[in-house]
Amino acid sequence: MDLAGSACHACGRDFGTVVDHDHFTGAVRGLLCTHCNNNIDKCPHLSACRWADYLNSPPAEHLGIRHPDATKARSWSKDRIELMGFDPFPKGP
Ligand SMILES: [Zn+2]
Ligand SMILES: [Zn+2]
Repeated sequence: MDLAGSACHACGRDFGTVVDHDHFTGAVRGLLCTHCNNNIDKCPHLSACRWADYLNSPPAEHLGIRHPDATKARSWSKDRIELMGFDPFPKGP
């Protein structure tokens, strides 16, 4: 997916400059302009709103791209576990 020069996936008016991603899964949801990125999480609607529509079916979700920051955080903790020789945060039973 070529994100460069694309319009904002939510409003389509401004250029998308922010790669929006789900903060829990790290999955990239789409490309947003600064305005949408700052306000989309405050959208109170379930549907019939450009932000709600975007969140309900993220334009880039099917591509399965993970946000670079999320990948970095994951590999960093993996490196640390290898360095220490054990997992300091083992999953509970
Ligand atoms: Zn926008
Ligand atoms: Zn809304």
